[in-house]
Amino acid sequence: MIDQDAVLDRFARAVEDGHGALTDLDQHSGDGDFGDNLRAGVRHAVGLAERGPRRGFAALGEVFLDEVGGTSGPLLGLLFTEIARALTTAHGATGASGPADDDLAALASGARAGLTAIQRVGEAEEGDRTLVDALAPAVAALGRDGYAAAATAAREGAERTAELTARHGRASYLGERAKGAQDPGAVGVALLFWTIATVAE
Ligand code: ADP
Ligand code: MG
Ligand code: MG
Repeated sequence: MIDQDAVLDRFARAVEDGHGALTDLDQHSGDGDFGDNLRAGVRHAVGLAERGPRRGFAALGEVFLDEVGGTSGPLLGLLFTEIARALTTAHGATGASGPADDDLAALASGARAGLTAIQRVGEAEEGDRTLVDALAPAVAALGRDGYAAAATAAREGAERTAELTARHGRASYLGERAKGAQDPGAVGVALLFWTIATVAE
């Protein structure tokens, strides 16, 4: 049973540590608020989870869908919400523990549903220099090879965005000039899958 509250906690810490680098990346290719958006969201989700019955991914989903600004806020909200839904279906709302394999399957199907929802709303394909470039390979690796492989696939996907020209979001206004630095949203998604892998291992 993956400890969702540990995922939220460690993701929040990773985002605090990464805030400066994420801000720099969005200053390079966007409007510089990605680090602030992500940090405000995780801080708020930590508070929400502490105060009430919501578990980690549900708290993240609610906050990012309803409150976090920027293009990335609602898109990440869809991902968190679908993961929360899949884990709840697998374990029940109380989080009764089940076999670890069930968890991996639930997380993989939730992340896949999140990717589908993000692409339905945002219309980005792989190669367009968005967070989809980290999420799509992570989803593929998660179902096939597990948590660590998904973390690696997300990181490599984020690294590849440095060579891509953006076709969605603010970075698309910059054309070739966004090249050379990774897409901030993709790096944020890579941080999430790294966190999940460290909690699940
Ligand atoms: P904004 O440009 O509104 O300030 P953020 O800074 O919150 O948005 O988020 C920027 C990130 O959003 C980008 O790095 C990219 O990964 C992601 N993004 C932008 N447009 C899309 C899209 N259409 N589909 C998926 N992700 C997108
Ligand atoms: Mg921005
Ligand atoms: Mg913005």
